[in-house]
Amino acid sequence: MMTAATMMNAASVESEVRAASAPLLLEVSGLSARYGKVPALTEAALSLRAGQIVTVIGPNGAGKSTLLNAMMGAMPAGAAASGRIAFQGEDVSQMEVEERVARGLSLVPEKRELFTSMSVEDNLLLGAYKRRRNGESGYLDQQEFVYALFPRLKERRKQAAGTLSGGERQMLAVGRALMAKPQVLMLDEPSLGLAPLITKEILSIISQLRSTGVATLLVEQNARAALQVADYGYVLEMGEIVCEGPAGVLAADKRIVESYLGVAREPVELIQRNVSS
Ligand code: ATP
Repeated sequence: MMTAATMMNAASVESEVRAASAPLLLEVSGLSARYGKVPALTEAALSLRAGQIVTVIGPNGAGKSTLLNAMMGAMPAGAAASGRIAFQGEDVSQMEVEERVARGLSLVPEKRELFTSMSVEDNLLLGAYKRRRNGESGYLDQQEFVYALFPRLKERRKQAAGTLSGGERQMLAVGRALMAKPQVLMLDEPSLGLAPLITKEILSIISQLRSTGVATLLVEQNARAALQVADYGYVLEMGEIVCEGPAGVLAADKRIVESYLGVAREPVELIQRNVSS
């Protein structure tokens, strides 16, 4: 009989096989960031392949949002980031946010940043603003793609974004990011403030993006939910990636989840990195 752990491992092997054959989209190395003189991220390294869902889990204040903002070039005034961010082999680390978006990177920030008095449809169209301005004809196809992925947004397309439920707002934030037709979708804590069932629904919809070749980088405090949907995971603690591994393997190791939740104090045995103390 197959145990849960065996099934997890089988699923991990399957994701690993898929991952190994897919093209490498994004490779980050030596990425560090600081707010003034205070370091928040130290020498982070990670990679993403087409169609893969990669999660970065870690406790409050570990530097997860900083990692995404540094990758996007969206650090606040007074903050600085350095390191290499290669998108399809090209170093984008010196590019402005807009150029990174045009290359195919898209971030859904933790605060979602919707225009609450505007309709669902107009919020979506804002996500395609650049593509429309550049005279790209396919942006309406992308809207149909978003509506197919999130039928609830289609039902509510004329409704003001401010009248949506928390889950629907998160769907709209993801949908708006998808309107830019990204190849790498970065999500900052999509589960924040949502009921577990809604989180599950949204993550399961996001997992459908695999078949389109879009790679998803999912930053989450909710490790269980994130590891259930991801192919591969990294654990970020105090600004440093302390270990990584196939998501099924991480999820089967209770110490990882407990450590992430701040309960266990045992060292982890997965791919342990040499982290300076
Ligand atoms: P959370 O889940 O709470 O958002 P996180 O893992 O995303 O946590 P970050 O928000 O990246 O962590 O924060 C990492 C560290 O950087 C924290 O110590 C935080 O206080 C600090 N920090 C974040 N933003 C700023 C800022 N704008 N100015 C100064 N320090 C900041």
